[in-house]
This record gives sequence, structure tokens and C-alpha cells, in this order.
Amino acid sequence: LKLFNTLSKKTEEIKPIKNDSVSLYTCGPTVYHYMHIGNLRKAIFDDLLKRVLSAEGLRVKHVMNITDVGHLASDADEGEDKLEKEARIEKKSVWEIAEYYTEHALADYASVNVLEADKIIKATDCINKEIDFIKKLEEKGYAYKGDLAVYFDSTKLKDYGKLTGQNLADKNVAVREDIVIDKSKKNPIDFALWIFTKAKHKNHAMRWQSPWGEGFPGWHLECSSIIYDQFGDTIDVHTGGVDHIGTHHTNEIAQSEALTGKPLANIWMHTEFLLVDGHKMAKSLGNTYRIVDVEARGFDRLAYRLLVLQSHYRSQQNFTWQALKDAQALLKNLQAAADIRFQPSGSSEHDFKAAQDTILAALTNDLNTPEALASINRVFDQVADEGVSKKDSKVFAGFIIWLDDLLGLELSLSKDITSEQKRLIKQREDARENKDWDSSDKLRDELTGQGIEINDTPAGSIWRRS
Ligand SMILES: [Zn+2]
Repeated sequence: LKLFNTLSKKTEEIKPIKNDSVSLYTCGPTVYHYMHIGNLRKAIFDDLLKRVLSAEGLRVKHVMNITDVGHLASDADEGEDKLEKEARIEKKSVWEIAEYYTEHALADYASVNVLEADKIIKATDCINKEIDFIKKLEEKGYAYKGDLAVYFDSTKLKDYGKLTGQNLADKNVAVREDIVIDKSKKNPIDFALWIFTKAKHKNHAMRWQSPWGEGFPGWHLECSSIIYDQFGDTIDVHTGGVDHIGTHHTNEIAQSEALTGKPLANIWMHTEFLLVDGHKMAKSLGNTYRIVDVEARGFDRLAYRLLVLQSHYRSQQNFTWQALKDAQALLKNLQAAADIRFQPSGSSEHDFKAAQDTILAALTNDLNTPEALASINRVFDQVADEGVSKKDSKVFAGFIIWLDDLLGLELSLSKDITSEQKRLIKQREDARENKDWDSSDKLRDELTGQGIEINDTPAGSIWRRS
């Protein structure tokens, strides 16, 4: 299994630290609003990675965080805490905001068949561990107390910023141009580990005691601290969105590697943005669609999952309703072809084993989903055109289950039609043989009314769900 590593800028073979199991950490949602479909795109690729690792015979231990404190409006320690702001707008407590949006985020993930992480850990549930982490950094001389926060001294780390390739001087300039600052901050690029509940944060509702003063943890710290607690020094794979590279992951690496002296993750994977009609999603543009919007417009939630899989995770994807409509039509075709396992006919032979190999070869090559889907379409088109023999229908059924484990499209969940419906189809075939077109048409209408369409093929009548 080869994956593109943002750190090395190369596609690398994954070599798990423990022989047969993979430690995976994925940065989870900040729970201050509903997940939009762009958030789900990243979750779907995390999920696909897990499924491909499993298909390769590897066990996966997957940990995800929930950011319920400390994520400020700008990644670079500026602005208000996103949850605190939302709590004020909605006139709820910040704890209510966290609980409400966490529940919705997890439900939205599940709705597109994203398998739940083995452990989901809230930032607010590991405050003591985060404080311990800072203490250790302080002992090693990487942390210092400023007026408004305890900071990480980024200049103490030789390779700070290695994930972006940006050098320290450039980054310092970039940050300096931002709105700043705490005068006690030694370098513009230093970032907050622990933010005091004073000055602009004096009304911050979530607050804890610490050796340096009352406050709350910075966003980046939770991921470093959770990984250290759950896995130790180094994990196999760490994922996030491309927007995490410059600050959040750069700072995770800094904190963790300063503390352990070891690489935080062997492979860093980043999913590109989803655009909507060519634009970045923004509340002001009214294009931050959710999965419920997809369903409200009559689309299947899994049509969205299929749409996501149609593009490569390292490419930007442009969402349009037309593209979703096409994905919905493709999903229908796949479902109809899958239903052919219930209606064997003819003697065509298919090499499903070879198809599995081709599909897996595409996915193990840095999750090449467009290529995998092209192979899948070829197999399903062939089945739709030629049917499957009685002998092949069982193999085909097994192939579909295998495919569902891999892609989560639920093609294996459809049920056979009822024996009454089968009887109607047989009656209609008999009527056609007797050139009794009236009866044949009536029977067709009856079946249509039950959501069953009939195609008359050389191999006989093939039904599909409308
Ligand atoms: Zn993170």
C-alpha cells in the first residue's frame, strides 16, 4: 500500500511500526456548527483509508479528537474561540453547543457510512494530560510563560515548519503581518499552548486551573497530547485537510517532536478542498451545504459518497448539483447491476477475482478512487449487458459484499423481489409469448406501481428498481 506523504513529498510504501496493525490519527471536527459536505469529504477519505488498510489484512487502531475548546477564529492564536462565539450567538452554554454539534457531526459521518473511530476523545476530557504535556515541554525549555499565554518557543526547534517547506524567516514575516500580539511573545511564530482567561478571553466560559494560571488549552495541543497518550511517540499515519498543513499540523509536529525527539507520524496525508460551483464554501455565499440538504433535494446520501470517490483525495473537487445528479444515476445503475445476482440467466462468464485485484491495485496506489471506480463500472456494465450465469451469481454476490466492505456503498443490502412479484413477471412473459399485449401491459403497469421496471433482453426479462 503506497500513500503520498506530505512530509517527504513522495509516494511511500506504508511500513507499520507494529507488523500487522496501523496506528491512525485523524483530526476531528471543531463542534461549533454543523458539518458541511466538504467536512464529510475528508471524513470519507479517512474512512476509505481504513477500509483499504483492512482489505490489505492490517488491523487499524483509529483515534479521532473532538475539538470542543481552544480553536480560535484564526488558526494563529487570534480571534475568539469558535465555540464561545457560537454559544453567544445561539444564547446557549458553550457545553450545550459542544454536545449538540458533536452529536450531529457523528450522525452526519455515520449517514455517509463513515465507520466510527475506535476512540473518540474530546479536548475537554484530557485537560490534565494537556497540562502534563506543557509541563514536560517547559522542563525541556520549549515552553515559556508570557502575559497572555504559555507559548511554545518555535525557534528552539531546528526544523520547525518542515511540513510546509517554508523557512522560519518567511513564516515569521507572514505572522508579523497578521494582527498581533502579546508583547511578551518572544517570536511572532511562537504559538499558544495554554491561553489565560484574561484580556480578550476574560469571559471565556470554559476554564481550568493550571500551574501557570487559569485558562484553556490551545487547539494544536489536544492532538499532540491525545496521540502521546494513546499511541506513544510515533504513529503510522496522521491525516487532515490541506488547511491543517501550515499551522495546525506544523505546530502538532513541533510540540510532539520537541517532547519525544521522535517523528510524530511516519506518513502525513492531506485531503484537498471541496469547492461548490467553483467557489470555496462560505456562510456568506450560502453554499455550505449539509448532507441533509442533499437528502432534502431528493438525493441518496450515498450518491454523495460516490461523488466524493469519483475524484482523487489530493485533487480539489468541484461540487455541483448536476455532478451529484450524475453520481445518483451511476449509483442507480450500480444498484441495478447488483440486483442481477438475484436473476441469473445465460452462460456468460466473468472473472470477478481479476476485477478485485484491479480494483485493489488502484486503491493501494495512493487511494486512486477514480481508477478503481472505472474498473468497477466496467465489471458492472458487463454484468448488466450479459447477465450472470447461475454458477457465477454466487461469486458475484460475494464480490458485491467485498466491494461494500471496501467502498461502503451498500450495494449488497438490496433484497430480492417477492415471490408474488416474480410470479407477475412470469405471467407477463407468458402473456408476451401468447402475444396477449393487453395483459402484458397491465402486468407491466402493476409492477411499475410496485417500483419494479422490466427490461426485455435476449436472455429474458430483467427487473430493476425504479
Ligand atoms: Zn489535529
